[in-house]
Amino acid sequence: MSDKLAIKVTKAAHSKLPNVDFENLPFGKTFSDHMLIGTYADGAWKDFEIVPFGDISLSPAISALHYGQTFFEGLKAYRHDDGKISVFRPDKNAKRFNISAERMCMPTLPEEMFIESIAKLVDIDRDWVPSKEGYTMYIRPFMFATDPYLGVAPSTTYKFMVLVCPTGAYFSKNLNVKIETEYTRSAEGGFGYAKAAGNYAGSLFPGKKASEKGFDQILWTDAKTHEYVEEMGAANAMFVINGKLVTPSTRDTILDGVTRDSIITLAKSWGMEVEERRVAVAEVLEAIENGTCTDAFGAGTAATIASVAEMYHNGKTYVLPDPSKSEFANKMRKALDDIKYGRVEDTRGWNY
Ligand code: PMP
Repeated sequence: MSDKLAIKVTKAAHSKLPNVDFENLPFGKTFSDHMLIGTYADGAWKDFEIVPFGDISLSPAISALHYGQTFFEGLKAYRHDDGKISVFRPDKNAKRFNISAERMCMPTLPEEMFIESIAKLVDIDRDWVPSKEGYTMYIRPFMFATDPYLGVAPSTTYKFMVLVCPTGAYFSKNLNVKIETEYTRSAEGGFGYAKAAGNYAGSLFPGKKASEKGFDQILWTDAKTHEYVEEMGAANAMFVINGKLVTPSTRDTILDGVTRDSIITLAKSWGMEVEERRVAVAEVLEAIENGTCTDAFGAGTAATIASVAEMYHNGKTYVLPDPSKSEFANKMRKALDDIKYGRVEDTRGWNY
């Protein structure tokens, strides 16, 4: 670790670790002993500190609360069989962090500060990285506007924070997906490509309505026509059609996923043809019907690959082949896990 970034550390007086039930770790509810906080003011990042995890005091007038000038990232640390801990492709998240920052009119953070902050916090709370098979430590960096000002204007002060949560294995139920034809997650010219909080707030109501009808997830379509596939819930939509990996090309309505990129890279290295392009809903449904679509899944940090069992569109249900027997999904899951958990040589330098 370099010492470019001075991070002041105040250790928690007592660790909560002995009270944690590592057999029961629902996502995002258990936080480690520490958190990182940095301040942006007078045009510069300063005062990076690791402090005991706890509540923070803020003015009720901060613009993050009123106008949603806030965004986040999500990545994971993995404990290898030899005890070593690595974070998967944090450089990609650092870049995306700054893409989000720019779109939300917020200051960027030098990539090395982002990575160093995460590395130091994970190192201090390294005992919190679970060792059980499939378990991980979820890392949540985020930034929010702190000017106590009710005018609609970019803030001049911000906080950067990182929290870490030990997390149990993702239970990958095969999904019953609704192809959305009414609501939209993001539109051209909007900020779907940023991990802005508002994108997630706006997806809750359509998600709730879909859930009430028995669906697990929404397949988002384009805002103008609802005829093209965009994303699957908070994950990238990917398909195997005629033996090719097919996925919507990234654009301003789509988040450029790290998992998506990793899957594309590995599939290409296996000699598989990959098509990144506009993907019509009609094409996918036809391919399911004629049996050429063998896989449909959401790709993201949470689940890696969340396979689809059924898709619903305009009154009709389309059933995919049994995902548990999918050669592609199972091979890809294992290949990614083998890299993340250090079971194979990390030839691409993906583990930090
Ligand atoms: N799309 C959206 C909207 C997401 O929130 C996420 C999760 N970060 C993804 C795609 C997948 O991205 P990643 O593979 O980097 O987790």
